[in-house]
Amino acid sequence: MANPSLLILPGDGIGPEVMAEVRKVIDWFGTQGRPFTVEEGLIGGASYDAFGTPLSDETLARAQAVDAVLLGAVGGPQYAGVDYALRPEAGLLRIRKEMDLFANLRPAQCFEALADFSSLKREVVSGLDIMIVRELTSGIYFGEPRGIHPDNAGGRVGINTQRYTTDEIRRVARSAFEMARRRGNRVCSMEKANVMESGILWREEVQWVHDNEYPDVELSHMYADNGAMQLVRNPRQFDVIVTDNLFGDLLSDAAAMLTGSLGMLPSASLGAPMANGRPKALYEPVHGSAPDIAGQGKANPIATILSLAMALRYSFDMGEEATRLERAVEQVLADGHRTADLMGPEGGTPLSTSAMGDAIVAA
Ligand code: ATP
Ligand code: MG
Repeated sequence: MANPSLLILPGDGIGPEVMAEVRKVIDWFGTQGRPFTVEEGLIGGASYDAFGTPLSDETLARAQAVDAVLLGAVGGPQYAGVDYALRPEAGLLRIRKEMDLFANLRPAQCFEALADFSSLKREVVSGLDIMIVRELTSGIYFGEPRGIHPDNAGGRVGINTQRYTTDEIRRVARSAFEMARRRGNRVCSMEKANVMESGILWREEVQWVHDNEYPDVELSHMYADNGAMQLVRNPRQFDVIVTDNLFGDLLSDAAAMLTGSLGMLPSASLGAPMANGRPKALYEPVHGSAPDIAGQGKANPIATILSLAMALRYSFDMGEEATRLERAVEQVLADGHRTADLMGPEGGTPLSTSAMGDAIVAA
């Protein structure tokens, strides 16, 4: 079998710094007899500076051809005056749209050594490992009609439309069931079928995909408001949560705070299956380019390193290696290694970005 191929797009700000640590991890896997074919390209401000566009057609074509894309972050204050369509963020939006990445995955995993960083009590989050699958390309953020119009009473009316089709629901449901098979084999689908037509369809179609294609996976349904409550009351009851764009936006941000720092959170955006049966995929940390700390060696590389772990598991069929990498992160944290963003009030001397990468490779 050919080596797994990865396109790395470091981007802007702390992106290149954290990506340098990912390269160390990839090189280590190479020394263990698991080489990758790695290409590197430009996106965001870095691409704008070089080519006058935040994403070139050539880079996009390479993104479409590889097994997975790993992205750092885009953006920075120096691009604030750039035309909207040429801003760094436009490059990220374009690559997501062109790759048709309709499922956004955000794991919330509690590392024991950081359990006190959570917004919740240690007893509630210790051992937490859940995955939220959010529909990303449809729903109320995109539905028509939309707009702000004069109403009949001399005021105005603001309109958005929640709209989902059978296909849109089924494909994101499949992503969630596939995920569940590689994890705890349970999916909880969240909507508001009690008050929304799209919620009724959502529930029926997720159930249909389950009954016809994934009967081996345990499926439950929950109203999203109850889901929000359960997520902070007893988050460990969940394995995979699948939900629409709007509810997923809210629930995944809430779930992020179950585990602490932005510097720890990976994500994936998945599309339709490719010829090899695995989905098109772009992996990236949840955090942005953090211009306030860029170039200072302060950034925490763990979110991006855990994004690589997700790529290993979901794009490369290297689940064992993914687990090893996650264990190394766990180990380093247990040993007390901390970048500045993970320092508690007790203080101490933080590790640099590079020293954290070295510690993870050593572990
Ligand atoms: P964007 O619009 O790109 O999401 P943002 O300003 O909303 O950018 P971030 O760039 O993620 O968000 O930064 C938010 C804060 O978190 C900043 O103070 C930044 O320094 C900090 N931060 C973000 N990522 C990291 C990291 N990997 N390590 C340490 N601190 C980080
Ligand atoms: Mg942000």
